[in-house]
Amino acid sequence: MRLTTPIEEVPGVGVERGAAFRRLGMPSVAHLLYHLPARYEHEEAETTIDRLIAGRVVSARGEVTDTRVVHFGKVPRFTATIADATGSAELVWFRQTYLKGRIHPGVHLRVQGKAKSVRGRVQIANPVWREIEPGDETGGATEARLRPVYPASEELPSKAIEDAVGAILDEAAGLIEDHLTEPYRSERGLVSLADAYRLVHRPGDDAAAERGHRRLVYDELLLLQLAMRMRREQVRRTRRAPALKWSEAIDARIRARFPFAFTAGQDAVIAEVREDLQRDTPTSRLIQGDVGAGKTVVALYAMLMAVASKHQAALMAPTELLAEQHYASITSVMEGSQVRMALLTGSLDEEERGRVVRGIASGEIDMVIGTHALLTESVRFSSLGVAVIDEQHRFGVQQRLALKEKADDEASMPHTVVMTATPIPRTLALTVFGDLDVSTLAGLPPGRKPVKTRVVGPDDALDVYRELRARVDRGEQAYVVVPAVEAGELKDVRSTVERLERDVLAGVRIAGVHGRLKRSTRETIMERFRSGTIKVLVATTVIEVGVDVPNATMMVIEHAERFGLAQLHQLRGRVGRGSVKSECVLIGEAATAEAKARLRAIATTSDGFKLAEKDLELRGMGEMVGARQAGVAPFRLVEFPRDLAVLEETRRDAAAWIAASPELRRKDELLLRSRLMKAHGEALGVAGVA
Ligand code: ADP
Ligand code: MG
Repeated sequence: MRLTTPIEEVPGVGVERGAAFRRLGMPSVAHLLYHLPARYEHEEAETTIDRLIAGRVVSARGEVTDTRVVHFGKVPRFTATIADATGSAELVWFRQTYLKGRIHPGVHLRVQGKAKSVRGRVQIANPVWREIEPGDETGGATEARLRPVYPASEELPSKAIEDAVGAILDEAAGLIEDHLTEPYRSERGLVSLADAYRLVHRPGDDAAAERGHRRLVYDELLLLQLAMRMRREQVRRTRRAPALKWSEAIDARIRARFPFAFTAGQDAVIAEVREDLQRDTPTSRLIQGDVGAGKTVVALYAMLMAVASKHQAALMAPTELLAEQHYASITSVMEGSQVRMALLTGSLDEEERGRVVRGIASGEIDMVIGTHALLTESVRFSSLGVAVIDEQHRFGVQQRLALKEKADDEASMPHTVVMTATPIPRTLALTVFGDLDVSTLAGLPPGRKPVKTRVVGPDDALDVYRELRARVDRGEQAYVVVPAVEAGELKDVRSTVERLERDVLAGVRIAGVHGRLKRSTRETIMERFRSGTIKVLVATTVIEVGVDVPNATMMVIEHAERFGLAQLHQLRGRVGRGSVKSECVLIGEAATAEAKARLRAIATTSDGFKLAEKDLELRGMGEMVGARQAGVAPFRLVEFPRDLAVLEETRRDAAAWIAASPELRRKDELLLRSRLMKAHGEALGVAGVA
């Protein structure tokens, strides 16, 4: 046998079953070995009926004393009572009413299944059973064990996978080479890779499963941490960024552009960024700060430092709307200055685009604001000093990297600052963004009032819109957010505009915006909303980021249950920007417990950081901003917060390892290196290092 042996050749599998294994993603022995149990069930040794334990997989034997077919309730079922000298238990088989022809009072059975306690009595649902002779004591489960429960399908139940794994486990596990040496492992109390697979597939007890699991979790995290460290070191050693100038005079000149004093939080982060930018190692800094915290100011400060040193600066935003907003507000901040600015989005026509691209290449343009259109091949900078990526959680890691590669030559790289208002819980920051330094922008600009948030059902919608109307009549403005652009099951922009105009908002100037509008139309609408001509803006989540109209004091979100926690928080951040007390009303009906918890969290918490932690708790790691959209393969086994301690351990180990052997080219590192490249080389851009 080899690891590449086709699944059909595994004893007991064969061609037909093999097809089922293949459909579950297991074409070979190796795949079977890597198909890990999702959990375990405690399987008890056979006992007398009085000693059956609820919650465990139990075995017992006895005589059937009573049977019944039950037709009421959701599904028909067959039940039987089984008794021995010590007591009785109930057996129930859902749907399998045909069993009444096979199991009769007086028959002796051996049964095994998961026990639970129902009204004080032990019940075993859908037990595996076998008829036995009275007095037959053979063939029962004699030892307690952990039974692995595999991700399975209807045609390929967990038991079939367990059997196939059983047939190959010892030999196949022995074929796996370990990429960690014996001394390294024993120093850290890690089992060998071969043993890890043996233990995880066939643990004797919880502690054994745990030992196997820990090794695999350690590996998964170590590889990721090593990859990130390698990348970081690589950049530090081989790439140079322009060391930017800073002086009191430059500082004063930048500050004078703004109509307000910076907050203490902004000053603190600017101080960190300023230090970074004066070095010739490329900065990679993540600035996280709640919605409305004033991150743009920090970005602009960094960009102006580049311009002051005769380099260029770029700001990339995830949506055209946001890029346009930034362009408009930065243009007004820069009014009367010598700085030459441009906007580059997908909506530019050929001629405009050509002009901007040429200006960027020649260095005529100092500062460009755009969308991912900035990443297209033809865009080449003359001398890019600072690249800012706004709302980076909307971009993948690839895009983040692509902007960094926009420097004029191979050996240089701009300083990169990425910003997000979706604060990243510490766990995620360490795993997925381990190659970044993190600054936290604390506090909000003065005068912000917390936004009152409440959740109402659809029945109360009319009252909500009446309140909205009252605000508009007082001269305030409002947003209405709907999930869809086009009519369908959900509320959409156009019909919501029509409905409101016809009825509760008759006579009020309303407009709709969404991502599919032409840029010029969208810009006109946004300009009119900003100037107060348009009173109510009905929008999709295109307004989630960046829109900044202090006179807007109310936001209504329809179908609020459809939106994620981070998204709701971002949306809500559009109001509460002026001096009038603002309000956010979520109209929704939560169908699931998770949706309910989400709406409750947003209504009771105004702190984006707390919400992010809550989000992680509710949705789990896999769904978070992290792994998936960062382009990193989702974790197989790692789970937070459970594996936090291992994460810290691998971080330290990876740092020490790369410090001692930056390229992992020692002979005993070759296997590790190739596994690392396979797992993360592409996603993290380490492949180019090879
Ligand atoms: P975010 O962190 O969400 O990107 P912005 O940078 O868009 O926040 O800033 C939100 C609003 O706060 C903008 O209108 C901006 O002009 C304003 N602002 C930023 N910093 C200050 C400050 N120090 N004092 C007063 N207003 C500020
Ligand atoms: Mg912003």
